[in-house]
Amino acid sequence: MTTSPLLPNHLGGQWVTGAGTGTPLFDPVLGTELARVSSAGLDLAAGFAFAREQGGAALRALSYGERAALLSAIVKVLQANRDAYYEIATANCGTTTKDSAVDIDGGIFTLGYYAKQGEALGSAHALLDGERIRMGKDPVFQTQHMLTPTRGVALFINAFNFPSWGLWEKAAPALLSGVPVIVKPATATAWLTQRMVQDVIDASILPPGALSVVCGSSAGLMDQLQPFDVVSFTGSAETARIIRSHPAVAERSVRCNIEADSLNSALLDPAATPESEAFGLLVSEVVREMTVKSGQKCTAIRRVFVPRALFDAAAQAIGAKLAKTSVGNPRNESARMGALVSQEQKASVIEGIAKLRLEAEVLFDGGSAALVDADASSACVAPVLLGSRQPAKARLLHAVEVFGPVATLMAYDSIEEAFDLIRRGEGSLVCSVYSADPAFIAAASLELGSAHGRVHAISPDVAASQSGHGNVMPMSLHGGPGRAGGGEELGGLRALGFYHRRSAVQASSAALDVLAASAVALKL
Ligand code: NAP
Repeated sequence: MTTSPLLPNHLGGQWVTGAGTGTPLFDPVLGTELARVSSAGLDLAAGFAFAREQGGAALRALSYGERAALLSAIVKVLQANRDAYYEIATANCGTTTKDSAVDIDGGIFTLGYYAKQGEALGSAHALLDGERIRMGKDPVFQTQHMLTPTRGVALFINAFNFPSWGLWEKAAPALLSGVPVIVKPATATAWLTQRMVQDVIDASILPPGALSVVCGSSAGLMDQLQPFDVVSFTGSAETARIIRSHPAVAERSVRCNIEADSLNSALLDPAATPESEAFGLLVSEVVREMTVKSGQKCTAIRRVFVPRALFDAAAQAIGAKLAKTSVGNPRNESARMGALVSQEQKASVIEGIAKLRLEAEVLFDGGSAALVDADASSACVAPVLLGSRQPAKARLLHAVEVFGPVATLMAYDSIEEAFDLIRRGEGSLVCSVYSADPAFIAAASLELGSAHGRVHAISPDVAASQSGHGNVMPMSLHGGPGRAGGGEELGGLRALGFYHRRSAVQASSAALDVLAASAVALKL
């Protein structure tokens, strides 16, 4: 039997193919093998040193404005190759064109956003954090906090669901900060990440060592990290535990950002009625969140809280919309939803549904409908809406994230109970609130803010302009406390903080004047 070719890694400023026959990547609909990846035998130590020393020094020699221009050039290259990315996503991720856009165009948009933000930072090489503060009676001696780019590499260990956006939402602020990037994509969908990096390297935009990609096993990557390096991980809570307890983090204080599981919620105003706009907006958003990328979004709605009196109406309305979602081969335009990324994910989603069913009833199951151009052996899974009229008695419903087209409708009796139940998720990326009442939205935001990275309020006046519960926009914070990993990404220029070191310079006004000439005030 012939095997498909190994995708080359880019490390140490050169293309290197891993040893052995590698791990195959599959088409989750057709089951065909597409490519192979291997990181076996790579000289990781030399590759990390090259990125740190050559890539880092070259990037830091540039100003923010010059690095922003590099991001703009990357945007152009990616745009020129978009068609190839869509083909790879269809084949390797099983996504419809619309769903591929969330990943591919979402990544390019984020890069473009940081290119613009960076341009405004101009010729500076450091960021000033706040105003000067007098240190004593004599005003001549002051302290000025400043941020300088860390002199290390940024290692990204990414999840399978966003091979494009997951790379660029991290790489844009890192490169803009002057920090070289080494990305290790999740194996199942590594092809798109690898191809994008290849296009950028081939276009000779970045200095050697600024961008590297290692596909295949993660073995040995964390061992390379040194005190000024950073690691940004997106994936499961189990792997997050391994990363957090690795000596690089535990002993060498490597800065670590974790984006992990999240049981995001949607909350309907207790004053809503089945006829209210807020009710309709919740129904549409829940269906969208369950079906976009087959629910494989870390931000997708998993728990839906409605007043008890509206439970049946909500179940019926969501179920009726889900019934119109055809599932199957993304190459067929009549398929509105594609596949999960792999057979492993399909097995994990089926297992997860079985777990949640121990505490929930099935309100809608699209499984009986025929798949479009795909058979039962594909990784397609139809949407399933579960329900619980007694969510306070449930445990699994607030703890198990099923990473697929699955959500659970839950009844609440008072808004205080709803807030308590939402907090049972122990920290989430996002909660959306559906209400026509600005006072309710403000009160709910204050209640829910501490447990969420983002509160997304959908009221009738923003129905057409709101960016979507699950859409991560670069100007807004992404990340969440507790179970969600405790990380922070994006949020405009706030993202640069992870790639800089803050220090206080205590000096004379004259010295601080000179310092200020090569720095720019960080305006958030
Ligand atoms: P995963 O199994 O934890 O894998 C994530 C990444 O870690 C992959 O690149 C994986 O490589 C790598 N990895 C596995 N074992 C490792 C180890 N011992 N040391 C270092 N790296 C290791 O997670 P997943 O199943 O791909 O992702 C799904 C999860 O990600 C979901 O729970 C979802 O909620 C979460 N997610 C969160 C966000 C967010 O922003 N909060 C975004 C997307 C996804 P291999 O693929 O080669 O195993």
